[in-house]
Amino acid sequence: MSQKDPREKARPKLAVWKFASCDGCQLSLLDCEDELLALAEAVEIANFPEASKALVAGPYDLSLVEGSVTTPHDKERIQEVRRQSKVLITIGACATAGGIQALRNFAKVSDYIPLVYAHPEYISTLETSTPISEHVKVDFELQGCPINRHQLVEVILSCLLGKKLHVPTCSVCVECKEAGNVCVPVAYGIPCLGPVTQAGCGALCPSYRRGCYGCFGPKETSNPLPLTRWWEKKFHMEPHAIKCALRTFNCAALPFRKASTHYE
Ligand code: SF4
Ligand code: SF4
Repeated sequence: MSQKDPREKARPKLAVWKFASCDGCQLSLLDCEDELLALAEAVEIANFPEASKALVAGPYDLSLVEGSVTTPHDKERIQEVRRQSKVLITIGACATAGGIQALRNFAKVSDYIPLVYAHPEYISTLETSTPISEHVKVDFELQGCPINRHQLVEVILSCLLGKKLHVPTCSVCVECKEAGNVCVPVAYGIPCLGPVTQAGCGALCPSYRRGCYGCFGPKETSNPLPLTRWWEKKFHMEPHAIKCALRTFNCAALPFRKASTHYE
C-alpha cells in the first residue's frame, strides 16, 4: 500500500466558490499557467468545481468567492461559506460590488422576469444584486472585471505566508503614465474613467486609445462627479450618456452609484 505524502496534512486547504457571476474571475486562476503548478503544490485545492469534481470537506484555510448574492439560497449559502472559511477573499466586480447584474438595483426586477423567462413562476430571485461584504465579514476584496491574475497569485501567496494583503490603490492614470500613453481625453476628446478607477488592468483601454470603462471599480476616495461635470463642459455629454458610462460592471459601488443617480 502506498504511503500518504506527509506534505498532504500540512498543506492549507483552498476553496473556490461561485455565486451569481460569469466564471471569468475563476478562469483567471486557471489562467495562471506559470504559477498554477507551484500553487497546487503549496495548497490543497479542496473545492474548485470549475476545475475538478473532487471535493474535500471543510473547514478551509482560504476561500475565494466569486459572484454576487441574487437569490434567497445565495443568502443562506454565503453564511455557510463564511462559517467554513478561516480567510475569505472576494474576487471580481460581481463579488465586491454586485456586478453588472446590479443594474437590477435601479429597476423593478419583477418587471423584467416575465420578459426574460418563459416560465417566471420557477424564478426565485431577490430584488437586488449585492456584494458579499453586505452579508458576511470579508477579509480582503480584489476588484476587477475580471481580476488581474498576477494580483490574485500575490494575494494568495501573501495569505499563505501570513503577510498583509495588499494591492496598489492608485488610479488607472498612474498605470497609464507608466505605460507612456498620451491622455485620451486631452489628445483625442474621448471621456475616460481612469482618474476615479482603481489600478490593476495596466491601463489596457487607454493603451489602445480608448477611454477607461471603470472595470476595476472606484479607487479609494473616488469622487466621479467633478470628472463627469468636466465631461459635460468639455465634450457636451448628455446626462443619459454619463449615467450609462457610470453604470457598468461596478454600477452599484457607492461612488459610481451616487454619481450616476445625479444624472437620472
Ligand atoms: S467580475 Fe466580471 S469577469 Fe468576474 S465573474 Fe463577474 S462578470 Fe465575470
Ligand atoms: S487616458 Fe485616462 S487613464 Fe490615461 S491619464 Fe488620461 S484620464 Fe488617466
